[in-house]
Amino acid sequence: MSFNNVNLFNLLENTQIGVVIHNASGAVEYANPAAASMLSLSLEELKDKSMDVEAWEFIDRQNRRLSYDELPVVRVLSTGKPVDNQILGIIDKTIEKTAWFNVNAYPEKHSGNGITPPFVVVYFTNITTKINDFSYKDIVQNSQDMILVTEAKNINAPLSPKIIYANEALCKHTEYSLEELIGETPRIFQGTLTDKASTDRIRQALIEQHPCTETLLNYTKTGTPFWVQMNIFPLTNDFGEVTHFAAVQRNVSEMKFQSEQLDKRNSELKRIKHDLESLVHERTSELRDANLKLEKLAYFDALTNIPNRRAFMDAFSKSLMFAKRNSYEVLVGIADVDHFKSINDNLGHGFGDEVLTIVAQTMQSFFRSEDAIGRIGGEEFAFCIVLLSQVSPHQILDRLRQKVSKLHETQPLLKSHKITVSIGAVQTNELQHKSPKQLLTYADKALYKAKNSGRNTVECIQEGENISPISAPKPLDDKSRKVL
Ligand code: GH3
Ligand code: MG
Ligand code: MG
Repeated sequence: MSFNNVNLFNLLENTQIGVVIHNASGAVEYANPAAASMLSLSLEELKDKSMDVEAWEFIDRQNRRLSYDELPVVRVLSTGKPVDNQILGIIDKTIEKTAWFNVNAYPEKHSGNGITPPFVVVYFTNITTKINDFSYKDIVQNSQDMILVTEAKNINAPLSPKIIYANEALCKHTEYSLEELIGETPRIFQGTLTDKASTDRIRQALIEQHPCTETLLNYTKTGTPFWVQMNIFPLTNDFGEVTHFAAVQRNVSEMKFQSEQLDKRNSELKRIKHDLESLVHERTSELRDANLKLEKLAYFDALTNIPNRRAFMDAFSKSLMFAKRNSYEVLVGIADVDHFKSINDNLGHGFGDEVLTIVAQTMQSFFRSEDAIGRIGGEEFAFCIVLLSQVSPHQILDRLRQKVSKLHETQPLLKSHKITVSIGAVQTNELQHKSPKQLLTYADKALYKAKNSGRNTVECIQEGENISPISAPKPLDDKSRKVL
């Protein structure tokens, strides 16, 4: 045995490639340790088993069972030609698993008669893990997301980073062929409207070899813009050096469009809501104003702006109840403008209105806020005072009479027109069975008396007092005429 042969045999014994040498009848003459290990058999077991065709079950990549004639050794024996890279699976029936092998076989023709090969050398590697593993490249290649790989070197060079891989989705979407993209830079996808700040951020991340995420406007080969959300991350080799960058990109044009539409709709809705709110606000304050006006109309006299008959009767009733509960006396009266008809007739209805307003204001300022007052007729004003202390009603009422009769001294409009009122009132504390209406009737009677006494006078009676028979009021006296 020469020195070279020893080395070759050692090689066979130590290699990780399985080597089995068959003789012309198919029996195993030699198997190296790697072959025995790969087939999980000892050399003797292998020798025995190789002769028992039924003991083996071979399949191809399509899981079809191989016939005896299709086995590599048999093929070499029958054709005399080598078998290259035949992939076959050996089913281990005991554990129901398949071991996969890449098998090569050739006839050893250097010895023998040259027709029938004396030996068939079979060598094989176990590729079970490769066969069973799915291909990551398949995932990348078939992904619906666009995937691009660039080199990591010379990021700042004009044509860098160089594209070294693009998947199908990227080629399809950007309309570039793989050949056109390889060697190019991803800047080929950018255009006038691509945001510079975003591309600067990407460049910075590449320089710092950091992952980054950006949403960017890209362009197809024919110039159609589309939005991509891209995820760029560094790829390292076994030594931890960054050699490449992968960019996974998703077309988000539709989402971007929808979110823009959504933003538009949201701001539209916001505007509508704002408009509605201001409309409601406007209507509410209009309604409040209208209610106030209605309330005023219902309770206040439109001309003089003091309480009307209805409001007076309300306040009057409350005053009476209060007085009744506390056994106070009340003073209920009516002040009637003297000869008002003549004022109207001589000076006009408008002037008459002004007179009524001034008299009303005078009444209002004369009485206190807790007193009930109101305009109960054309030129008639009623009042009700709860008498809390011993006062002379007559004095109170005469002060009012005098105040009106002196209005021409202070009111420019009445400068040459003396206005007077006659006041009729009733003072009582016998309120048990007295209605407001009844008390007003007494006051009216007293007023009648005051008119009859020559006007510009005060007539105050005690309730129950016998009121003198009603006579017609005196006609206009000379003094009054002079003023009018
Ligand atoms: P007397 O002294 O007896 O009270 O006589 P008088 O003229 O005041 O009484 P009369 O009842 O005859 O006249 C009242 C007038 O008041 C008649 C009516 O036209 C007028 N009048 C009633 N309401 C208003 C009003 O709101 N404005 C004006 N300008 N006049 C009114
Ligand atoms: Mg009257
Ligand atoms: Mg009158």
